[in-house]
Amino acid sequence: MAQTEPKKGGILRAYLNFNVLYKILIGLVIGAIAGIILAAAGVEALPAWISMFGTIFTRLLKMIIIPMIVGSLVVGAASVSPATVGKVGIRVVIIYLITSAFGVIIGLLMGNIFQPHAELASLAADAAGKASETNVWKVIYEIIPTSVLTALVNETVLQVIFFCLIFGLCLSYLKASTDERLKKIAETTYNVFDCLTEIMMKIVGGIMQYAPIGVAVLICEVFAKNGPKVAGSLLIVVIACFLGYAIHVVLVYGGLLKIFKIKIGPFFKEARTPFITAFVTRSSNGTLPTTFKAAENLGVDKEVYAFSLPLGATINMDGTAIYQGVCAFFLVMTCYGRGLTFGEMGMIVLLATLASIGTAGVPGAGAIMLAMVMAGIGMPIQEASAIAGAYAMILGIDALLDMGRTALNVTGDLTCTCCIAKKLGLLKEDSILK
Ligand code: ASP
Repeated sequence: MAQTEPKKGGILRAYLNFNVLYKILIGLVIGAIAGIILAAAGVEALPAWISMFGTIFTRLLKMIIIPMIVGSLVVGAASVSPATVGKVGIRVVIIYLITSAFGVIIGLLMGNIFQPHAELASLAADAAGKASETNVWKVIYEIIPTSVLTALVNETVLQVIFFCLIFGLCLSYLKASTDERLKKIAETTYNVFDCLTEIMMKIVGGIMQYAPIGVAVLICEVFAKNGPKVAGSLLIVVIACFLGYAIHVVLVYGGLLKIFKIKIGPFFKEARTPFITAFVTRSSNGTLPTTFKAAENLGVDKEVYAFSLPLGATINMDGTAIYQGVCAFFLVMTCYGRGLTFGEMGMIVLLATLASIGTAGVPGAGAIMLAMVMAGIGMPIQEASAIAGAYAMILGIDALLDMGRTALNVTGDLTCTCCIAKKLGLLKEDSILK
């Protein structure tokens, strides 16, 4: 989120210029303390006019999901230019999607092992809480919408994703057309969606400025009803995520480097700088200059990395995928008092892998996508429900989780890039070849 230069004076300006993630953290702490005090005083529910500030936040989040998916997925898919796709592109996209899918699986595994949840009073007892019977074939064919408009209106996330991907890919072909007319109208259309995405990012930026207030109220309600014991649950979420990140580095990246016969030591020595930069900036896009440099130092041909790294910063989100797995588990366990069914887990793998394509490489984007994944499995972040409170808890610690997941996202881009370059004989540096 672009921060403008601070100008003198004004509480509002000072507020706007203060780092948003710290503000959310402060909102979490203030809300938690207020909630604990209220719990001690025996006050379980906030007055409706205060509670409203939490509801406004969840409604704003829901409002943004569909336009955000449409804009970012169309732009993401249309950015894969068919000219470059050739030998490099298809391989890169496949390896990116496979590693992201592994990420979600590791995240879900961590969820199953750690069973992260908070014991919240007054569970939202709605239909979504019941383990649903999943007919696998139905899940597959229902990805295809019979009406795009109905899919949009009913917010059927997977169907919207499916259509947007096809739309974006066709757009990329038209953009590369030799027919001047087609090329021109495709570029105009692309610019419209690009602009839509930018507008959505601005709106998300605005919602995030409001988030500290929404989070404070939602967390306050959670603590007032449940007391201080819920804080420990968040620690489990952090541990589960970071352990998942570490396992992914060792198993998936270590495994890939081994398979492609690239020396692990020298690779990670070079990967250190982008890793740390990503950890600090929480932005894959912002880290691109250092990732480029690392790829160059590793001897990757520019033809490969100039294409695969920016693409990776947009569509390859392994850390985000792990985070989705752990947090989805946390939300379901917390709100419905049960784990995930196999059907739901399969759905989350599919959704989170596809969602990673639409997750912008900017701070906090994954948290918005988490709301989308939850909507996709039929458990939307509803206003005035336990799930909104649990989601606010996650949002409160998002800065920390985002640091780890972004560092992993970037390391994943670099790993896959080196592997593909090696496969194509476009990795020059002898020192990292076995
Ligand atoms: N911050 C992440 C990135 O830039 C995206 C996310 O929030 O998951 O890669």
